[in-house]
Amino acid sequence: MTELRQRLAEPLARSHYADSATASPCQACGSAALESFYELNNVPAHSCLLLPTRKEALAFPRGDLELVFCHDCGFIANARFDIGLNQYSAAYEETQAFSPRFLKFLDEICQDQIARFGLSPGVTALEIGCGKGEFLTRLCELSGCNGIGIDPGYRPERNQSSAAGRMTFIRDLYGPRYAHLQADYVSCRHTLEHIAPVQEFMRLVRETIGNRHYVNVFFELPDMERVLETGVFWDVYYEHCTYFTRGSLARLFRAQGFDIQRLYKAYDGQYLMIEATPVNGPTTASLPQEDDLGSTAMLVKNFTREVNNRLEELAAAAEGWRKSGKTVAIWGSGSKCVSLLSSLQLDDVLGAIVDINPHKHGKFLAGSGWEIQGPDALTALRPDAVIIMNSIYTEEIRHELATRGLQPQLLPL
Ligand SMILES: [Zn+2]
Repeated sequence: MTELRQRLAEPLARSHYADSATASPCQACGSAALESFYELNNVPAHSCLLLPTRKEALAFPRGDLELVFCHDCGFIANARFDIGLNQYSAAYEETQAFSPRFLKFLDEICQDQIARFGLSPGVTALEIGCGKGEFLTRLCELSGCNGIGIDPGYRPERNQSSAAGRMTFIRDLYGPRYAHLQADYVSCRHTLEHIAPVQEFMRLVRETIGNRHYVNVFFELPDMERVLETGVFWDVYYEHCTYFTRGSLARLFRAQGFDIQRLYKAYDGQYLMIEATPVNGPTTASLPQEDDLGSTAMLVKNFTREVNNRLEELAAAAEGWRKSGKTVAIWGSGSKCVSLLSSLQLDDVLGAIVDINPHKHGKFLAGSGWEIQGPDALTALRPDAVIIMNSIYTEEIRHELATRGLQPQLLPL
């Protein structure tokens, strides 16, 4: 969520990628050894931006996906990403903080970061791309530290925290104009995958820290290795213009003057976590999990086949429901849902799309134009099957359904 998306992404995305994707340099390392491996045209340009009417949702701008893989650093990007189609604002509804499972995870990450980096009263934590501020707020509440959050989608009226007096929120995109913000700890969660010029972004983060080598840096983002392995095409969408594995993320950090302290996966292997410290100049790989260039190249080769397998399985399930006159609901209206509906025809069996985030209810999904309803809509619909957009919430959703007297077939993705 940075100003770089506006100031750098546009010229880079257009000038380097517009004409011939595979001849363009890698935005992480500058190499020309890029291979195009997955294409999907005409997908909604946003999946978390909610629309007030079906008409606007159906007419929402669309863009094309073409994933390219860098054989030198392992970085994967959408070569046809057009920053001009992006609009991040307070209408952006990405929060998962209405899920108990997610809040538990958020607390665990906060406690871990506080313990590892000694966050305490008097220390300042900066979060770049803080969204609705859940992570930073919890960090400040639990540790007593001060916080600075930057994000155009921040909503002050939703933050009732007792730590509010120690926090400053800037409703803007991060960029060079905020390089003066001095913090003892820098976090950036689920933001890097929205930024096209990743090398420039990491350079700016490194420059902002300067000679303060005691500053610790923590990034969290989706793990692409799992997506490639399993062909879960609904995890690839337009809003995410860049994709990382542990190795490609570490290589980007190392090249920009960071040493890697910790590199691991979390949240059922869905998220990639990296902890780094600034040093003078590039560093060399030292962790075994960074050594994934060859294995990623193999996964890239097989990705389209895996995607086709997932598509065939889901199309067969839909055909079964269709033939037996069953009604299906989707639980989870985020980006994964928008992406799934872009590739799979479900309109004739789908009865409802529900979400536990009340701020989404009554709004419409870009592309498909489906209205998002609260889970109570299922009480009347009584669906025969429920597609769960993220399997990590299966037990939580099973419980929610049971409290409404429902025991449909569950299809966790
Ligand atoms: Zn590269």
